[in-house]
Amino acid sequence: MLKTKIYNLIEKSLKRSLKLIFTKFTIQMQNLMTTKLFLLCLFPFIITSSSLNQTMRFGDDQMLRTHHHHKSFEQFTSIDSIPFGTINVHLIPHTHDDVGWLKTVDEYFYGSSNDIQNAQVQYVLDTVIVELEKDPSKHFIYVEVAFFIKWWREQTEEKQDSVRRLVASGQLEFINGGWCMNDEAAPYYEDIIDQMTLGHQFLKETFNVTVEIGWHIDPFGHSSTHASLFSQMGFNAFFFARIDYQDKDYRLDNKTMEMIWNPHQASGEEHGIFTSVNYYNYQAPPGFCFDQNCNDQPIMDDPRLEEYNLDERAKTFVTYFKNMALHYRHSDLMHTMGEDFQYSNAFKYFKNVDKLIKHINNHPEWGVNLFYSTPLALMLIGLGIL
Ligand SMILES: [Zn+2]
Repeated sequence: MLKTKIYNLIEKSLKRSLKLIFTKFTIQMQNLMTTKLFLLCLFPFIITSSSLNQTMRFGDDQMLRTHHHHKSFEQFTSIDSIPFGTINVHLIPHTHDDVGWLKTVDEYFYGSSNDIQNAQVQYVLDTVIVELEKDPSKHFIYVEVAFFIKWWREQTEEKQDSVRRLVASGQLEFINGGWCMNDEAAPYYEDIIDQMTLGHQFLKETFNVTVEIGWHIDPFGHSSTHASLFSQMGFNAFFFARIDYQDKDYRLDNKTMEMIWNPHQASGEEHGIFTSVNYYNYQAPPGFCFDQNCNDQPIMDDPRLEEYNLDERAKTFVTYFKNMALHYRHSDLMHTMGEDFQYSNAFKYFKNVDKLIKHINNHPEWGVNLFYSTPLALMLIGLGIL
């Protein structure tokens, strides 16, 4: 059953546009099938979903190490001094929608009180879905079920069917999947479990999906208790962004931004969870935010114009990822493209990134291959970990 599940996931991923890029991946899995009696008490609701009784885990850290090593560790400053082969960059379009922060949840959803903060989640989902419908190469991850439910209830049956297709194809992927993205320090564990349960139940009932990746890009610090909880919920990976700057420097220098975290010492490696720290918080690379709230220059791609900037901007983008690759053990990189409440005009964001992807991929000699992706696709195909 576990095998079937994994194969289904892989099949789903292969259907994506990525299949041309990666022809080889490995499957490493181990069925833990521990009794988890402790958990059965803790998670009365989640146990109805399949993820709890069956937990995949990764072989070990060695898998990360076996991926391509880079030949050069020097920083480079221009595209001309590229020392190694093709880097695959998984661009992750995403929005981070706080379920109540400076405004109320409803103000955020509808975009009222925009003098307090310019944020309108309804249009994020409206416009992202349209862009995904138009182009199967586009992907988007969504996190906060509290907002998604509000939007979902307003949709026609036709639209709901369309969204179901996008979820089934993997273009729209729910990640984390709780009611919100909870803090790791303040909440009581019972509340964490409840809010995760609420979101996961909706996703299971509505889309028959079981989210298996933790996405805590904004909580300010991370506890081993929370990593243990995620592991025990059946999550196979955990992505976050905010760590101590000295820890981050060390990890960048030592290529340990990705690791297997064993948060639950008492049960040894059984609860190990693949953990990855984002390279640049959870934003787009500096200068490449194309949200309507950003002031970065658009990609101007008509060479007849004086302000033509496509080639230069593309080279800057490529150089950024070449530098990033110096800090990772393999050539499959992941980078967020988004931020707080972004993509309320998804067309604008995607249109500009489309131009970068097209231009850069038309220059294979630059050694960087870009595509829209999700953390799950990175895990399954890029790293061959799941
Ligand atoms: Zn936040």
